[in-house]
Amino acid sequence: MRILAVEDNGELVDLLAKALVRAGLDVDSAGNAADAETCLRGVHYAAVVLDLGLPDADGLTVLENMRRRRDETPVLILSARGGLDDRVKGLHLGASDYMVKPFAMEELIARLQALLRRSPGPHGQRLTLGNVAFETEGRQATVGGKLLTLPLREGDVLEVLLKRSGRVVSHDALQSQVFGASQDVASNAIEVYVHRLRKMLADAGADVHIHTIRGAGYLMDVDKKASGAA
Ligand code: CA
Repeated sequence: MRILAVEDNGELVDLLAKALVRAGLDVDSAGNAADAETCLRGVHYAAVVLDLGLPDADGLTVLENMRRRRDETPVLILSARGGLDDRVKGLHLGASDYMVKPFAMEELIARLQALLRRSPGPHGQRLTLGNVAFETEGRQATVGGKLLTLPLREGDVLEVLLKRSGRVVSHDALQSQVFGASQDVASNAIEVYVHRLRKMLADAGADVHIHTIRGAGYLMDVDKKASGAA
């Protein structure tokens, strides 16, 4: 996992980089806001450690720009400014944590690791229901921890239903999320993919069920009977 350290104090960057490497993380560093922006646009980081007092801009601007372009990478703010206003403003702008200088390096690493654990990470989400899981980035499905190889469309259907599990997904919503705006789709295509996915999940021993709700759409939930029997 790669971390971006945005800090203009060279000595502190060195200490920080060494501590991060010891913690098993890779590090890039940027000494000002402009360099930070360049790094952020080129690389997907697991987290950013962000100093607020940068030579060319306020670190909060970097954070604000990230959130504006929907970059949700977790950010740990590092600041000499311990004022309540700065802290509130940073958290309000979407910072995940805030530390005031001087700080103990061990505490920073511990907080960063906690933040990495609770973040969905740069590699997408892990969606789960019952014994079924789906990694959105690698597009990998598992049932009871065992890999289930799904064709592309069946994987797409599973992703949409997992994201909205327990709720009804209309036929049209499912179709547009699986096929995009493409008009060239057979009217029963979704039914066919749902049918195949249902069979693949059942064959793999999944304890979830995809219900067809007449006139409304589809709903996936945990099959009470199957999970009770397991
Ligand atoms: Ca500084």
